[in-house]
Amino acid sequence: MPQAVEIIDVVKKYGSFTALHNVSLDIRPNEFFTLLGPSGCGKTTLLRIIAGFEDITAGTLKLFGTDITALPPDRRPINTVFQHYSLFPHMTVAENVAFGLRRLKMPAADITRRVAEMLEMIKLSSHAGRRPHQLSGGQQQRVALARALAPRPKVLLLDEPLSALDLKLRQAMRMELKTLQQQTGVTFIFVTHDQEEALAMSDRIAVMSEGRVQQIDAPQVIYEHPATRFVADFIGDANFLTASVEGLEDGRAHCGLPGGYRLIARDAGAARPGQSVSLFLRPEKLSVHDTPVEEGIGMTVRTIVYQGDATDYLVELDGGVMLRSRCENRINGDPILTAGERGFLRIAPDAAKTLLD
Ligand code: ATP
Repeated sequence: MPQAVEIIDVVKKYGSFTALHNVSLDIRPNEFFTLLGPSGCGKTTLLRIIAGFEDITAGTLKLFGTDITALPPDRRPINTVFQHYSLFPHMTVAENVAFGLRRLKMPAADITRRVAEMLEMIKLSSHAGRRPHQLSGGQQQRVALARALAPRPKVLLLDEPLSALDLKLRQAMRMELKTLQQQTGVTFIFVTHDQEEALAMSDRIAVMSEGRVQQIDAPQVIYEHPATRFVADFIGDANFLTASVEGLEDGRAHCGLPGGYRLIARDAGAARPGQSVSLFLRPEKLSVHDTPVEEGIGMTVRTIVYQGDATDYLVELDGGVMLRSRCENRINGDPILTAGERGFLRIAPDAAKTLLD
């Protein structure tokens, strides 16, 4: 089975500016694939190239094994959903969904059946006769999705489709989008700068920075085993510490930290004794305690930020090192410690990962 999309050595230049540097990646059939990165990293450019709205400076683009590099956008079996859903305001919901099917000259009875099927899928059958202005933002976005999926494209491109919605709705729509993708079996290529959204929905994520792909992996691998410091920093929250490698054992690095602390870090990779490395630790792997615990390090809480289900702590180890911890609150809802209090910090085994800069 060929890949759904193959992007091979694609370069995109705007005059002397290179927006994409030799990008290569494969997207599998039936995959929810996300292009994630900060503003300006080139993700929208790559999406527009797949759609055919932008030509490329060099490279090849294949769709299910066929070279489509020179194929105009309207001949690609690809549809796009944009941030602003751009429904036709004068058409009803049903007419909007039928739009692409009419263009395909599908028989009227088939159009009626397909529209009913799509409206049922997005749970808006009862709104078929309404016009877009009579719908909420979330409902409009679902109609835009149904309209784009109705002609059964092989690939659906989604350009930040949730960013115009409020937070609560955005979170609810994540689940709906993922379900829709699984129900239809269409390959989704989703563009976002929101790492939570990417982690929640994707089968795999490509993290991009300055026109280059930094890492392509499943969400959990990206989160737990970031390949570069950029990925570690961009996805989730992270502590970075400079450490010196004192020895290696079973793929782990024994490291010395400022203040005389020692830590064993996983994924030593190419680290060598004597070398200086960055250690990366997720705050949720560091716990704070108000009584002594095994391997607990004495510390003072400098700042706390209450988060409802948890609290973020900025703590200063007795040796002067500052670290961030995220801990669930007590059963009665109180944070474990408050600012200015002394306590103990425990670093979970294998919490630290070695990153070579
Ligand atoms: P955002 O999230 O802000 O949309 P992005 O990651 O999608 O960002 P792109 O829109 O792909 O980024 O742009 C990548 C780079 O290419 C940016 O530096 C942008 O300024 C540049 N660029 C995009 N389109 C053009 C253009 N038509 N002419 C010149 N430069 C462009």
